[in-house]
Amino acid sequence: MAEAAQAAPEIRPLVPHLTLGETRDQDYLNGSKCTKCGAVYVGPRLFCAECSSQGPFESLRLSDQGEVYVWSIIHQATPYVKAPYIAAVVDLPEGVAVNTNIEGVEPDPKNLSFGMKVKMYTEKVSEDKEGNSYIAYKFKPVE
Ligand SMILES: [Zn+2]
Repeated sequence: MAEAAQAAPEIRPLVPHLTLGETRDQDYLNGSKCTKCGAVYVGPRLFCAECSSQGPFESLRLSDQGEVYVWSIIHQATPYVKAPYIAAVVDLPEGVAVNTNIEGVEPDPKNLSFGMKVKMYTEKVSEDKEGNSYIAYKFKPVE
């Protein structure tokens, strides 16, 4: 008996504002720029909050380095998430901000500061029943 054809497992971004390259070091955060007024947004966009137009929007590659705007150490998380961890908002040079986790340092206030320079990286964070991998972005301090 012939077996049903199975689709090859895929590597997928966890969020729509992450664009995956051939390798993890080619991944980047994508943004949209309003061609009417120049406003920049994280990820795909249908409507401009600055000029009220529907674009069009041009795709933009956002910087992989930014500064911590605000951070918090999370001590209680859902069962499958290891706590404590560092949740943060990172400002990017394009004038936008992203929610993220800070890795690479122990989640202790002495390791964190407002304005600290951080760099984005990506890694596999989960896999579904079909074997598809999910890639998320995180930030770590710039050495
Ligand atoms: Zn606009």
